[in-house]
Amino acid sequence: MEIDQHKSMKMTPQRIAIMKYLDGNVTHPSAADIYGSLRGEFPTMSLATVYNTMEILKEQGRVVELSIDPAKKRFDPNVGPHHHLICTQCSKVVDIFTEFPLGLTEDEKHGFKIVGNHVDFYGICGDCAAAEKERS
Ligand code: ZN
Ligand code: MN
Repeated sequence: MEIDQHKSMKMTPQRIAIMKYLDGNVTHPSAADIYGSLRGEFPTMSLATVYNTMEILKEQGRVVELSIDPAKKRFDPNVGPHHHLICTQCSKVVDIFTEFPLGLTEDEKHGFKIVGNHVDFYGICGDCAAAEKERS
């Protein structure tokens, strides 16, 4: 993520910290996760600041909002095409960079000009499976 002066977003130390936190971050954090990670360093930071900054970054196309859980928006600083593996137990999200052959027939396209696709795979991650095994 390029941390530059952008005309539609005033760069403050808090916003720079949020962008640095997101740079290369593959955990797909929620606003609450970001806030929780940074408030130690920035005691005056509010959750509203994080929400607000994420909204601007989203508008600028610098993060993508994931629709996995509407009650807890998650963000992905990797805006390039990729897919996700999602753990239904701990909500871990793992990136998949394989290009799947998802060609649609003209009929299936319903007149759309296709510009992209995204596949979510659901399952139980290795950690959750191991924890479950231990409990039983
Ligand atoms: Zn899991
Ligand atoms: Mn991702």
